[in-house]
Amino acid sequence: MNSDNIISETIENYEQYINPAIAKLFRYMGLSTVEWKAEGNIIYDIDGKEYIDCLGGYGVFSLGHRHPKVVEAVKKQLDFMPLSSKVLFNKPMADLSALLAEITPGELQYSFIGNSGTEAVEGALKLARIHTGRSRIISTTNSFHGKTLGSLSATGRDLFRDPFKPLLDGFEHIPFNDLEAVKQVMSHDVAAVIVEPIQGEGGIIVPSDDYLPALRKLCDEYGALLICDEVQTGLGRTGKMFASDHYNVIPDILTTAKALGGGIMPIGAFTAKPDIWEKYITSPFLHTSTFGGNPLACVAAIAAIHVLRDEDIINKSATTGAYFLAKLKSLQQTYPDVIKDVRGKGLMIGIELTKEGIGGLLISELVNKGVLAAYTLNNPKVIRMEPPLIITKELIDLVLKVLHDAVEMAHDMIEDL
Ligand code: PLP
Repeated sequence: MNSDNIISETIENYEQYINPAIAKLFRYMGLSTVEWKAEGNIIYDIDGKEYIDCLGGYGVFSLGHRHPKVVEAVKKQLDFMPLSSKVLFNKPMADLSALLAEITPGELQYSFIGNSGTEAVEGALKLARIHTGRSRIISTTNSFHGKTLGSLSATGRDLFRDPFKPLLDGFEHIPFNDLEAVKQVMSHDVAAVIVEPIQGEGGIIVPSDDYLPALRKLCDEYGALLICDEVQTGLGRTGKMFASDHYNVIPDILTTAKALGGGIMPIGAFTAKPDIWEKYITSPFLHTSTFGGNPLACVAAIAAIHVLRDEDIINKSATTGAYFLAKLKSLQQTYPDVIKDVRGKGLMIGIELTKEGIGGLLISELVNKGVLAAYTLNNPKVIRMEPPLIITKELIDLVLKVLHDAVEMAHDMIEDL
């Protein structure tokens, strides 16, 4: 079968068996090809066309694609035992849990390993309720915590929530980065405040420096838990191991996923302080998962954490991110009619456009010229730049050149967009 046939058959299968609207959207964005192979910072389509990955799988590909050390660890484990018997001790899960205790801040110690971000959030919410014996959960508008019913109850976008109501009782949403709003809803029946230290899907929103520390203080005053959802921000994305490290805040429960699997395996985890784990120690089967903690995913995560440390990737994220951000800020100053704001930390950067209509044009121009990017899910006016943390300055310069030309084009057409 030649590549044209494979492409048309794949798109037809999307139309008939997945969702025709997705096929239409991909086509509209100029994405009418099939991904085929990936390595490092580059994704190749079936015809061998190269794309610089500036989306990084929404934060999954922090180590790039197919990092050889992670691939090697997974291949090796395949020849031993990919899934767990669940009755004998599972060494990769034990080793990973110990490593998570080491890299997470403060006294965070016990982990439960699941398979995705939403599962990590579900587990964190359940743990907050069982530990405190309270049911109210405070979350923020425009947050994204996942789309299963529990995490969706925390997610702060009506578009995703309304069709599935009633969701779980006891969830309230207040504006992000607004301390007064938190003070108004705080009381002694709040089980937890759940927050992304930097909102990702909400449009890469960086809070003021005092926000997270003040949330920590308020939670302590009222005996509520602070859950930091670091599914997207975690493991070096923002130039520190965890985004909460920027603010010297230690949450009670921290969630991770996405980059944890080293870009090879799906995995998620929540990690908590020992006293919070007490009820699970009394009843260890209250929260379980068949595939959670499987050796294949755990060895990928262990290798990923070692690579993060051995290859100094978090510092790279901080310095390359600062370079990229500065260049994007000067692009914003040249074209303020197209770009309203540029913000972020490390390699989690958002480009806020002046009009929603500009996004489609920019993304399809970028794709045409071999750069993959996308909007943030809750804010289509913001294009995210979340490349692998291993991206070089030379590749960033290439992306900037392509972006500059696309922005100039948008500037020339601004009245029509
Ligand atoms: N939490 C945050 C902060 C996220 O960004 C996401 C996904 O984008 C999730 C949770 C849900 O993760 P998953 O898609 O793996 O369920």
